[in-house]
Amino acid sequence: MSSLFERIRIVLIATSHPGNIGAVARAMKTMGFKHLVLVEPKHYPHADATARASGADDVLANATVCSSLEQAITGCHYVFGLSARQRTIPWPQMSPRECAQYSADQGDAEIALVFGREHSGLTNEELEICHYHVSIDANPDYPSLNLAAAVQIMCYESRLAASTVSVKGGALPAPVEDLERFFEHLERVMIEVEFLNPQQPGHILRRLRRLFVKAQPDKQDVNILRGVLSAVQRVLKGQSVADKENVSKNNT
Ligand code: SAH
Repeated sequence: MSSLFERIRIVLIATSHPGNIGAVARAMKTMGFKHLVLVEPKHYPHADATARASGADDVLANATVCSSLEQAITGCHYVFGLSARQRTIPWPQMSPRECAQYSADQGDAEIALVFGREHSGLTNEELEICHYHVSIDANPDYPSLNLAAAVQIMCYESRLAASTVSVKGGALPAPVEDLERFFEHLERVMIEVEFLNPQQPGHILRRLRRLFVKAQPDKQDVNILRGVLSAVQRVLKGQSVADKENVSKNNT
């Protein structure tokens, strides 16, 4: 079983202030974490990042820069989105402590903690990719922590939890990229069978996403679900070939 310190990656989305990236690196290193992933940082590398890292330059130097959230979380089995705000469709929620304990208990699972932009946080689309939302309890009139302070709290809780691991058995859930491909496939088939109108999709996809994310299907479950969708597509294709043949027969 690999240690929680190895399994957690801290993902920062589109950070505006390079100083915050440095402060995050410092917060991580003080708690023993080192995997930092930056998604489209506004200014990076930058002297302010190095200055604020003060001694955690190794975490900065080893940070990975990605062009999308999907790329940043590839290979992860659990993705937690950090958000102070409750969104339109409620999502499974955890406190920082629950998130840390849950992560510590998941054997070899790769974990991503995803943090949003300083000004606008995470978008709804980004939050929907996450399995759980984590909100740090704070003053309701002023709940928005500085980015590095939020990372510090999550890393501290994770450090405490790392020493009280109780490993659960069973298969790991499918990695997040497999689940994303399944959602794309599901959407295509729902459109093909005219269950979903792409012009007016409403909340159906978001609700189905939430359902499957809660169910935590493993790799084999996802393969079965994709198999069902492919079977539906084969039948549809057969029907449309038969329809075309009928049309051309009727026209002759
Ligand atoms: N103004 C933004 C908050 C930006 S703070 C908003 O309204 O969403 C930058 C990031 O720090 C957030 O996207 C979130 O990931 C994290 N963060 C700050 N305060 C938090 C809190 N109370 N709970 C959970 N995450 C928080």
